[in-house]
Amino acid sequence: NGSSPNESETGETLVIGSSGFIGRFVTEACLELGRPTYVLVRSSPNPPSTKATTIKFLQDKGAVIIYGSITDQEFMEKILREYRIEVVISAVGGESILDQFTLIEAIKNVDTVKRFVPSEFGHDIDRAEPVEPGLTMYDQKRKVRREIEKCGIPYSYICCNSIAAWPYHDNTHPADVLPPLDRFQIYGDGTVQAYFVAGSDIGKFTVMSIDDHRTLNKTVHFQPPSNLLNMNEMASLWEMKIGRMLPRVTIAEQDLLQRAQEMRIPQSVVAAITHDIFINGCQINFSLDKPTDVEVCSLYPDTRFRTVAECFDDFVKKISDKAKTVSKPVTASNSDMFVPAAKPEAL
Ligand code: NDP
Repeated sequence: NGSSPNESETGETLVIGSSGFIGRFVTEACLELGRPTYVLVRSSPNPPSTKATTIKFLQDKGAVIIYGSITDQEFMEKILREYRIEVVISAVGGESILDQFTLIEAIKNVDTVKRFVPSEFGHDIDRAEPVEPGLTMYDQKRKVRREIEKCGIPYSYICCNSIAAWPYHDNTHPADVLPPLDRFQIYGDGTVQAYFVAGSDIGKFTVMSIDDHRTLNKTVHFQPPSNLLNMNEMASLWEMKIGRMLPRVTIAEQDLLQRAQEMRIPQSVVAAITHDIFINGCQINFSLDKPTDVEVCSLYPDTRFRTVAECFDDFVKKISDKAKTVSKPVTASNSDMFVPAAKPEAL
């Protein structure tokens, strides 16, 4: 009808999980796009300093901080009313997916929320079928979807695919660590493609899509053609950036399955999902043929995605910044000191 896709540019937006990995990207995008942004923060007696720093950073950028938990339904109803929240974006971690049931109940009772984005930010959970324990997390996210639909809450499901970073099979937050500097671990033959999207673009396109009537009750897929790479290409790109070749070690399908079967949480969840992406090809083995599918590049053809090459430049900069602090240039002989520890974090 020729009208702007944005129903309202200024809907009050509540982000849950802003101190987390994905939530911070989303919150920053809300603030950058000029939305009135409210951030729900769980209080804890001794919060990690990184959490306090993130919250202070977001507050300085204009976010209103509200202390509380989504598990307190009465409180959630109160703040949704009090702050006239129109959009709720949840980015709670893997262990809190089912906590969103209380939030859904609060949103249903208040009945003024125009859009709810539940915590997904991965693949289309109604299509992918990872092995356990990945499947349990997908089942929980599916239950959340069915509850939202049953309650008639307006929603968008964000399927942003992988974050643009080296896809370590035991780390839930790969963008927090450098790509390898000693050797590459390549899953299978390294030819299965995946979409690697910059964290800032996950935030930006999520926020751009939440007022758009075309994404109402839709699954929003992030499939930028420029960001579709396989692991061999990722490895070559990184070699080009650091100016040297690294050995490549194959991690076979069986190895990933074994790591999944160990049932160490969250590492085994990541191994199961890594298997689904780089062996099964879960990001590329389907067509967008459901009436509920929309794709962000088609929705916003004039807004470009950051490329993986640009994201790798950020990692190179981190290496050179770090090298400056120890006043030594990075060379093949001393670069090992920057090898990431691939420390697993909470999913
Ligand atoms: P994190 O564990 O990094 O952060 C979770 C956030 O949720 C924290 O801020 C936490 O607060 C908050 N939270 C948890 N429970 C509650 C509650 N009851 N009330 C209020 N706040 C709460 O999560 P991730 O960023 O790793 O995961 C977010 C989503 O993104 C998940 O669905 C995950 O599967 C997906 N994901 C996708 C990735 C990709 O590459 N596509 C990578 C990683 C995750 P507190 O600080 O108090 O703990």
